[in-house]
Amino acid sequence: MAKIIDCYICGKKNLTRNEIGLNKKLIGNEVKKFHCLQCLADYLEVSVEELEERITEFKDAGCSLFE
Ligand SMILES: [Zn+2]
Repeated sequence: MAKIIDCYICGKKNLTRNEIGLNKKLIGNEVKKFHCLQCLADYLEVSVEELEERITEFKDAGCSLFE
């Protein structure tokens, strides 16, 4: 069963597999605190749209962290 992870900044419940995968990709596999897409965008100073593009790229590359 998948672990339920909340955003540690805004408390958004039950982050998606894609959100969790993106945290691992962009922050590092050892990441312990997860951001939702919006907070990750703020943290990295990019737009949510850019992050969604990155998710699509990783998916197209066949990365197993994304669905
Ligand atoms: Zn958040």
